[in-house]
Amino acid sequence: VALVLLVEDDIAIRRALIRGLGERGHVVHSVTTALDALRDAVVQRPDVVLLDLGLPDLDGREALKMLRAVSQVPVIVATARDDEAEMVRALNAGADDYVVKPFSANQLDARIRAVLRRGQQDSAPAALEVGGLRIDVTSREAVLDGQPLELSRREFDLLRHLAERPGQVVTKRQLPAEVCQLPYGGADKTVDVHLSWLRRRLGETAAEPRYLQTVRGVGVKLVDPTT
Ligand code: CA
Repeated sequence: VALVLLVEDDIAIRRALIRGLGERGHVVHSVTTALDALRDAVVQRPDVVLLDLGLPDLDGREALKMLRAVSQVPVIVATARDDEAEMVRALNAGADDYVVKPFSANQLDARIRAVLRRGQQDSAPAALEVGGLRIDVTSREAVLDGQPLELSRREFDLLRHLAERPGQVVTKRQLPAEVCQLPYGGADKTVDVHLSWLRRRLGETAAEPRYLQTVRGVGVKLVDPTT
């Protein structure tokens, strides 16, 4: 079962896929333009994106490149023609797999499952520990000294990203775009806001940091204050 972001401007195909994937247990959110897809890939955090390469507002490969800039979500592209050169270009531009129209919901479902399986194999260890902080990546729960932390989705992702690199300074630019950035502007300020909220969740202040150490003018790192 996956949250599928369906990007398709053809209403008949869209309807058929929403029904077909729904019957196979997936939750489908659909948009008709590349720009809506970029926004929703960040906001909704789908498990997989099905991207039609023939969209009204942006060239398909351009859309794919922009999507890759804001999200690591697996992308299956759909093309109208069985054009090998086009497929290779799409795969090189960051697509994980492709389907050629017309394709069945059954076939797409199989591709979705395959892409998701690959993603699970690649993923990091299920739990990260830094000092008294324990982050369960699978259940998306974080615990500090035995106390569960109430984290927003972005706070969790930010904490996880830092916990995967303990002691290492991460610049704002190196933070995953999907954590701290919308496709349009305001990145630095957004990062600062999320960091300050995360700091509050960890029960510390910028003046007396413990886990979350800001390195002025460089970035931020997560350290084990107990060592
Ligand atoms: Ca189309």
